[in-house]
Amino acid sequence: MAMPQRWVCLDVGETLVDETRIWGAWADELGVPRLTLFAALGAVIAGGRQHHSVFDYFGLPKDTWRSLGPRVEARHGGLQKQDLYLDALAAMAALRGAGYRLAVIANQPAVRHAELEAAGVRADVIAMSEELRVAKPDPAFFDRSLELMGGSEAGSVAYVGDRIDNDVVPAAAAGLRSVWIRRGPWARIQGPPPEGMAALVVDGLDELAERIGEAWPD
Ligand SMILES: [Mg+2]
Repeated sequence: MAMPQRWVCLDVGETLVDETRIWGAWADELGVPRLTLFAALGAVIAGGRQHHSVFDYFGLPKDTWRSLGPRVEARHGGLQKQDLYLDALAAMAALRGAGYRLAVIANQPAVRHAELEAAGVRADVIAMSEELRVAKPDPAFFDRSLELMGGSEAGSVAYVGDRIDNDVVPAAAAGLRSVWIRRGPWARIQGPPPEGMAALVVDGLDELAERIGEAWPD
């Protein structure tokens, strides 16, 4: 019997993209040193809180941070090729060359879809949570992702992400092969995942391209 088509579905923030520039734009908009904002974000991650809780440290009335979004986006200028981790495009090409189909499905604003394509990201499926109207860690996010990947069986899809709470644990719970990429602040602070939760642990996408087969032990 032929092996089912295997997919590699990639997260965006801190998996394909280094988010230093966007968080730096938030610091600049708030008028605080970047180090101060980054440290506050670390405290939020360590406390298991949502990332927007970081704004509580800077005296913004509740939810007013949202109204600053367009100004921050203008400062940031949108996601650009320079924001991609240096191994991102080559690893995706290597995975495709090895016969895997590729998806990029992540918690991101809809505008990132076209920006990723403009930065050179090529995949069989690209979808952002704002477009899908469902976000991780909701199990429906993974159901919808499998639909987009041609109705693939969960077990034939590796979901690659940096976060334990939003990527590794819920993807495994949905039956996908969880791959933990150990980079970015969430991975450094939240890791390691509970025993047996990650099918594979890698330190970068170049390593992922070399070792992806290990996500499916025979
Ligand atoms: Mg991420």
